[in-house]
Amino acid sequence: MRPRFFADLALIPGHTVGLPEQAARHVQVLRLQPGDSITLFNGLGDGQPGSEGEFEATVERMGRSDVDVVIGAYSATVREARRAIHLVTGMPANDRMDWLVEKATELGAASIQPVMSERSVLRLKAERADKKLAHWRGIAMAASEQCGRNRLPLIHEVVTLADWLKKSRDASAAEADRRLLLSLREGSRPLDQSVAGRGALTFLSGPEGGLSAAEEAAAFACGFSPVSLGPRVLRAETAPLACLSLLTLSGDGQP
Ligand code: SAH
Repeated sequence: MRPRFFADLALIPGHTVGLPEQAARHVQVLRLQPGDSITLFNGLGDGQPGSEGEFEATVERMGRSDVDVVIGAYSATVREARRAIHLVTGMPANDRMDWLVEKATELGAASIQPVMSERSVLRLKAERADKKLAHWRGIAMAASEQCGRNRLPLIHEVVTLADWLKKSRDASAAEADRRLLLSLREGSRPLDQSVAGRGALTFLSGPEGGLSAAEEAAAFACGFSPVSLGPRVLRAETAPLACLSLLTLSGDGQP
């Protein structure tokens, strides 16, 4: 695969553009030369024509830190999962959330909503939350470049689970997604029996310490039903990734 770069720019075949700083730096690190081919994509999943596919481009000029490329042919290649899978996830602490963002991007998650809940170890105040968000978006961008996705997963701002549930209850009439709570409680249905159909799915999962009974009850009131991933207790980052694997790696998840 040619080196791929996300460029938040209008990409028009025949036009010459300067690459954004990060992509330019990466091209420099790879020691590409004028005449070398790369792939560019600018898809933010905003539904704009041309935002789903990718463009061939040729390095025209290497400056000291800037790089100009000529945009070539557009190809409407889509490597998204067929079903939109949204994760609402109690953030694990340390670098486990970084890992979750990277793997969820590779596995085709449509969006990730990090939430703070009663037993969250990771608690973020405004400024640090902004920094973390930028960091996670950078990880999702790099993972998209690497794995061939032309649409970046949306990574939403950190909110409390209570606030997210409140907002989603107001919005729920408009959304047709199926809502599943990853739960260790008895009577939860096995995942594979809960995901028939083709529509969007939203998975809510807890942090290291799990969700409290009150939080689970609040989720049920917002239309979530409990599903089980089997008898083993999976770590906070493993549980949502297991759901993505089941849904996007089977034939059903392929475009
Ligand atoms: N110590 C916690 C475990 C949390 S595991 C407790 O006992 O509750 C982190 C999250 O992963 C859980 O909140 C749940 O959403 C999800 N999870 C882990 N294993 C699971 C399983 N076997 N089935 C369903 N969800 C699971």
